[in-house]
Amino acid sequence: MSEKKRAIIIASILSLIFILSAVWTAHQFLAKKESASAAIYQNGTLIKIISNDHEETFRIEDGENWNEITVDKDGIHVSGASCPDKICMHTVWKGKGSLPIVCLPNHLVITAAPEETDDEFDVLTY
Ligand SMILES: [Zn+2]
Repeated sequence: MSEKKRAIIIASILSLIFILSAVWTAHQFLAKKESASAAIYQNGTLIKIISNDHEETFRIEDGENWNEITVDKDGIHVSGASCPDKICMHTVWKGKGSLPIVCLPNHLVITAAPEETDDEFDVLTY
């Protein structure tokens, strides 16, 4: 095998590795962006973990108080609430790093899920 051929083969292998790692990194990044878990706290207690990888609408009730949570392609948001100020309805939670959704009158907080409850969470990259 000539030196030139060997150099070409090494170069091809290196570029293949580079492409594969680029694809892998992109995949990891996209996968992370697509599915994020949020935790819903009511009166300071964790009551539900939701993921933004599928759409759903449900109600959280506490006596007279209620919040309707909707998960859709834009993220997680409060689509209806019994509170007088409706401040919670103005925030959309889009993933880790988003501002938490807070409904002060109903003592409801929606924020990133704690690490240990998120199976897909990669500790090394955090
Ligand atoms: Zn509210």
